[in-house]
Amino acid sequence: MTYQFIEIPFSFEAHIKGQQREDRAHDYLYDKWGRSVVALNESGEPDPQTCAYGKVLLKKNKRGWVALRRDKCSRCGGQGGSQAWSHTGWKCYRCHGEGTERNLSQTALYTADAAEKLCARRAAREKAERAAAEKQERARAEREAAAREARIAELSSDERYVALCNLKGAFAGDIRSRLEAGKNWDDFSDKQRAVVDHMIATAQVEANVEVNSQHIGSPKERFAFEATVVASRQIGTEAFYPYSARFLNRLVTTDGNVIVWFSTTHLERFVGKQVTGKATVKKHDTYRDTAQTIVTRLKVDNDA
Ligand SMILES: [Zn+2]
Repeated sequence: MTYQFIEIPFSFEAHIKGQQREDRAHDYLYDKWGRSVVALNESGEPDPQTCAYGKVLLKKNKRGWVALRRDKCSRCGGQGGSQAWSHTGWKCYRCHGEGTERNLSQTALYTADAAEKLCARRAAREKAERAAAEKQERARAEREAAAREARIAELSSDERYVALCNLKGAFAGDIRSRLEAGKNWDDFSDKQRAVVDHMIATAQVEANVEVNSQHIGSPKERFAFEATVVASRQIGTEAFYPYSARFLNRLVTTDGNVIVWFSTTHLERFVGKQVTGKATVKKHDTYRDTAQTIVTRLKVDNDA
């Protein structure tokens, strides 16, 4: 057994790195990460004078060379004690004031070939682990996609879902993607379901009403109408106008003319229904190539 404690000057590590560049292979022992630790002398033994670890014990066992170090105490950092512990006596209880760890730390040393093989094996293992993880991730993504596809096939017989798919807007899109991810209608609140049903009903009314729009009357003229209420939706955000919610009410007369009434009155309960009433022309307007008559003071007959 060969061993020796020696104190290495601080600059030795830099010195070894310098040598390493000139004469890389075979003349050093390396740690498992492939970093050179100690140079070999002419008789092939590690020369403790060149060890990068400072105070070290080099030992040969069955497997090869081992560097043994006495590290600084992990509690006091080598000070042996601290002013902060003065109320219980200054001394560090881990090292009893010695400043060093009780047990030596061991580093196995390898020849260049062995270190290279070790590093190659580790790299191969890490690569295989990464590949396995990627494969697992791909399989998971495929499973999810298949489940979603199966869910969509299952939903295709659900009339409410099919109608929902034709709706625009973030709310409808959100409900739809949650259904496709496996949620059921029962998982939504009564209010959410009611909003969806209202949106579907409105869309169906709009789809079924024939629009062949002409302007009605002339400004300030009051006129009677017979029409279907096709939409009544809030405009703006309630958060900004909490006391003045306004609604866009859209009606299509039996002649196919479009009436628009901006109001604080919500005609939601009439959506899809035929009503008669009176309104006053405010102005004539065109929206997306459709003539529409903007009205004021709209009154639905028999509106309780
Ligand atoms: Zn200590």
